[in-house]
Amino acid sequence: MGINIAIDGPAGAGKSSIAKAAALEKGYIYVDTGALYRSIALFALENNLNNDSLVNSLDKINLNLEFIDGSQHVVMNGEDITDKIRTPEVSMNASKVSAIPEVREFLFGLQKKIAAENNIIMDGRDIGTVVLPDADLKIFLTASAEERAQRRYREIKDMPGVTFEQVLEDIKKRDYNDMHRDIAPLKQAEDAVLLDTTGMTVDEVKTRLVKMITEIE
Ligand code: C5P
Repeated sequence: MGINIAIDGPAGAGKSSIAKAAALEKGYIYVDTGALYRSIALFALENNLNNDSLVNSLDKINLNLEFIDGSQHVVMNGEDITDKIRTPEVSMNASKVSAIPEVREFLFGLQKKIAAENNIIMDGRDIGTVVLPDADLKIFLTASAEERAQRRYREIKDMPGVTFEQVLEDIKKRDYNDMHRDIAPLKQAEDAVLLDTTGMTVDEVKTRLVKMITEIE
């Protein structure tokens, strides 16, 4: 059984940059669970599936995470889709498919298995509340919607048709969807440490996180 660190929070809070940097420093595996929901969303988009037909097709999806030089790669039915799942269209559709109970159940086992076998920092929306309720450390990472949109915009601004206003609107819409769905909504676990990263650099937050991990090891 490895050491499990759960990081949850809304889109653009800096979860992935911070978790990745802390994992590298501590020699842990960083697991980005959003990528799993994005993969299912991509599958639905590419195959033109509505919710019902997606649920009926889940058994046709073979999803694996591979860790190459500390970087997570998502392989779906033999294809490395790591880059393909980063478009705004996939982001929005991921938020939609993530509300389907069968999709969450489908991805639950894969997340549990990775966490059981390794020292991991896993980020998502329901890691501390549902996937790893017994995690050794739980963090709820947040920041203002404007700052989160700025960060996301900087990452994807070179994609065609991307504007800051659209990114901000998408972030707010996704926050709403993620917090109001019936199953595994985004919320802070009772025993999670709240970290508001507004105005903080990735490096500052990483240092705080690494210190907390070292304290519980
Ligand atoms: O974190 P990321 O933006 O890549 O996540 C994409 C979407 O996947 C989120 O908006 C959320 O709806 C969903 N998600 C989830 N549970 C997780 C991780 C992501 O519902 N553990």
